[in-house]
Amino acid sequence: MNIHEYQAKAVLKSFGVPVADGVPVLTLDDVQTAIDTLPGPLWVVKSQIHAGGRGKGKFIEAEAGEKGGVRLAFNKDDVMAHAKAMLGNHLVTAQTSAAGKQVNRLYVEDGADIDRELYLSMLVDRASGKIAFVASTEGGMDIEEVAHNTPEKIITLPVDGGVDEAAASKLCDALKLDGKARADGMELFPTLYKAFTGKDMAMLEINPLIVMKSGDLRVLDAKVSFDENALFRHPDILELRDTTEEDEKEIEASEWDLAYIALEGTIGCMVNGAGLAMATMDIIKLYGEEPANFCDVGGGADAEKVAAAFKIIMKDPGVKGILVNIFGGIMKCDVIAEGVIQAVKETNLAVPLVVRLEGTNVEKGKAIIAASDLNVIPADDLDDAAQKIVAAVRGA
Ligand code: GDP
Ligand code: MG
Repeated sequence: MNIHEYQAKAVLKSFGVPVADGVPVLTLDDVQTAIDTLPGPLWVVKSQIHAGGRGKGKFIEAEAGEKGGVRLAFNKDDVMAHAKAMLGNHLVTAQTSAAGKQVNRLYVEDGADIDRELYLSMLVDRASGKIAFVASTEGGMDIEEVAHNTPEKIITLPVDGGVDEAAASKLCDALKLDGKARADGMELFPTLYKAFTGKDMAMLEINPLIVMKSGDLRVLDAKVSFDENALFRHPDILELRDTTEEDEKEIEASEWDLAYIALEGTIGCMVNGAGLAMATMDIIKLYGEEPANFCDVGGGADAEKVAAAFKIIMKDPGVKGILVNIFGGIMKCDVIAEGVIQAVKETNLAVPLVVRLEGTNVEKGKAIIAASDLNVIPADDLDDAAQKIVAAVRGA
């Protein structure tokens, strides 16, 4: 789960991480509050959307002007003017679709005098089984570009159970911190580790971390995502969820405890288990089509849950056919079959459907489908199923 920059900064601040003072803005009245409470002489008006590259982004609406989604204001009138130009309009960045994202929230911040922009992130490094810091002196810009052109300017440092002095010192060296900034860094890195583990973050990206003209370190931008399997431990974080930023189908799936992933092809896939999902998508590609999505119903679904998964898959207008590929282990094939039949009836299914069942109660499951009189194409194995659904969506 992702949260907005202003929320991420509030979480980090609660651990003692240095961030600027700021005021979240939902309405123009809030802008006035920001103007009245932040001292100036520099303000930053920042679009809050779940996508990066806002500074270099462009608004679609003409009245939003040429400037991007992060704007500096040198007087109070400009704060209001920028806010009016951004609120409600659509911001397109390198990380959004061409339609952009509607900006419904802003964050007005006390502006910083920047000396240097650095890059710092933290992630769960599977290779080392540890939490790793990624650091570079080349902050503020596209880190993928830095990684491509000058990979030697990025260092990765896995840490074990916390950030001790030696690790903090290495990070300070990597970021070429000295004086006050170095002292700040020695405190900041262990604090970030506490925040990361304390809130079960999956990723924390600070781009840029800045050295101010005063010599202080400050987190200028923050992007956080959380491990969804641990959210039950963090009701405070769950409250920060902004569902207007998420795919409607993915929200519905999460309400049913289904894993739904939207893709770009033509074939909707209902599967159980991540490995089977991958295999199903691979074989669809092998026969020349692309998956439109996949919905993993997991181990113990009942007929209602299967029907819900089916309906979610059907909501994607790109779906030209559906492949149900279920291995009945804990899950029984007759339960799957009943769920599929129920869903086909309720949705008036208008696209071809291929069902491949294997495992516990497979004969019962096949019998239920055969007896249903519905237009369902049975398949014997995965190869057969993939060829049949590909042929069906191509109208053969
Ligand atoms: P992003 O474009 O979505 O990554 O948004 P950022 O929060 O990283 O802001 C983009 C850029 O705006 C930064 O790299 C800075 O160059 C600039 N910027 C943001 N806040 C300030 C500030 O307080 N003072 C100054 N001078 N520039 C800022
Ligand atoms: Mg940034």
